[in-house]
Amino acid sequence: MSTTLALARDTSALEQRIALIACGQRPGKTQPCDSCRRKGAGLLTIASTGAADAVAAAICGTGRGPACHDCKDKAAEIVRVFNEEAE
Ligand SMILES: [Zn+2]
Ligand SMILES: [Zn+2]
Repeated sequence: MSTTLALARDTSALEQRIALIACGQRPGKTQPCDSCRRKGAGLLTIASTGAADAVAAAICGTGRGPACHDCKDKAAEIVRVFNEEAE
């Protein structure tokens, strides 16, 4: 039971971290906005496939490429964070 709880907590922490990257990180900002928070789970799922382009498109809001430079940077960071956490 405690294992399941820990796993759920870890996933939501990672989801929140990914949402914050998508929202735009800046000093002192610890929470993504509501809109980006809702995207967190979806971005996490896409990041798990390692497809940075698809993550970028999802952040950019078009759902398809090409994403802008800013969102590509965010996507690369999200995939990096995901792989880091997955190890
Ligand atoms: Zn946001
Ligand atoms: Zn964009």
